[in-house]
Amino acid sequence: RFLTLEGGEGVGKSTQARALAAALETRGIHVVLTREPGGSEGAEAIRDLLMQGDVRRWSAHAEALLFAAARADHVEKRIRPMVDAGSWVICDRFIDSTRAYQGAQGIDDAAILALHGFGSRGLLPDRTLLLTLPDGEGDRRAQARDGGAADRFAARDDGFHRSVAATFDRIARDEADRVRRIDASGRVEQVTQRLIDAIADLLP
Ligand code: C5P
Repeated sequence: RFLTLEGGEGVGKSTQARALAAALETRGIHVVLTREPGGSEGAEAIRDLLMQGDVRRWSAHAEALLFAAARADHVEKRIRPMVDAGSWVICDRFIDSTRAYQGAQGIDDAAILALHGFGSRGLLPDRTLLLTLPDGEGDRRAQARDGGAADRFAARDDGFHRSVAATFDRIARDEADRVRRIDASGRVEQVTQRLIDAIADLLP
């Protein structure tokens, strides 16, 4: 199986990815935990390009292509082989992050999906868990964590962040079979239990 975690900054995706992996391992499932951009040697090299320096270094179109290229390598070299071998792969961010973040920079959703079709043969997760917090709460957590340093778009205005959140919401509404919205507030263990409930139908 292939699961992804999505959501804005500071909603606890990485913590929950680890906690969910541990919970699945106790059920005897072999889990591969990975994250985007990166996750394979070639994709990590592209990650370094994307994360270094000013975000405005790349045009929005070039950036969309770099994310698509990184994902293509990650899917072909790591995700597909591990899923085919019977492992469960949990990926921290995937195509929906590109739709939300690069979409907020003006790249058309259909174009992003077309790139995904070419680069990653359109691979979609069996389930996507969208972690949500009330407006601004994630940003406060990200500030408390690292001063917002992990957010490439920390300097962008509220309109940008609202657009990201609106795209995630729209995807969850339109693709309700695949995507489940998860309340990310409360204790870590409570949130992990919500995630497990949201994949209960996939468990062996
Ligand atoms: O996963 P994490 O929250 O650390 O994301 C790192 C940065 O990369 C974030 O600022 C996120 O907005 C950005 N990102 C992006 N496009 C993607 C995935 C992540 O701009 N497709």
